[in-house]
Amino acid sequence: MRESVKVLVISMALAAAMPALGQNALISDRNIENNLMMAMAWKQTAAEFRALYHQGFNIARMRVEIASAQKRDDSLPLAIISDVDETLLLANDYWGYLITQGQDFFDDASWDRWVAQNRAVASPGALEFLNFCVSNGVEVFYVTNRDQGETTVQLAIENLNAVGFPSVDAAHLRVLRESSNKELVQQEIREDYDVVALLGDNLNDFARRYYSTDVEQRMSLMEQDRDRYGRDYILFPNPTDGHWIRAIFGESEPLESDANRRILRDAATRAAWAP
Ligand SMILES: [Mg+2]
Repeated sequence: MRESVKVLVISMALAAAMPALGQNALISDRNIENNLMMAMAWKQTAAEFRALYHQGFNIARMRVEIASAQKRDDSLPLAIISDVDETLLLANDYWGYLITQGQDFFDDASWDRWVAQNRAVASPGALEFLNFCVSNGVEVFYVTNRDQGETTVQLAIENLNAVGFPSVDAAHLRVLRESSNKELVQQEIREDYDVVALLGDNLNDFARRYYSTDVEQRMSLMEQDRDRYGRDYILFPNPTDGHWIRAIFGESEPLESDANRRILRDAATRAAWAP
């Protein structure tokens, strides 16, 4: 073979191998190529992330002010219902830990250990908003799907108390270990209270109908309710976990695997320019 032909053949062989090499490089070093990296860099450093919490709580406060002004003497007392994790409490510390461990999917076992360490911090504006509610006679209910077994309630109470939230007691904290359906508890609370707004980082914190594994259906259900956002539903940002993950993978806590990393890549390239 002539030298130039040899070079050409080798170049073609290399070019053919490149996509495979590229893909391997993508998944070979978890310390650098980690699914959580961009989302967590945003959560840990972006003023925009924190501003969205202030925006959410400012809107929630406005809703409370309007409801208080319109309340009649004979109407039910006012209340707000809030999710806990990534709504009132932030777990950046936990997600950062996962990255340092080379993990790029949520891990239940380490999450349970982390929760017990009481390291969550209040989200920006949460404490001020909850105190505003309580000092204006508006009840605050905490509704969470946490599950750390028998210790769930105690750990949640410790976490909420550690950041100084008000009304942290058995009457105001509802833990749903068996199901993520929050509607029954919402209905129960609505029997005694006029609920001003629901606060959450997951559409399922508002209504069960959003609990779908179909991305398009979830999107269209949300669009049907568009007028409720910023009114009945106050939504906070969460790019690392929630049922949007379930809609992609079919489960909320997908296992760490290259198959799941490919599913994530497919989701990220649903629309992709291919000039
Ligand atoms: Mg949450």
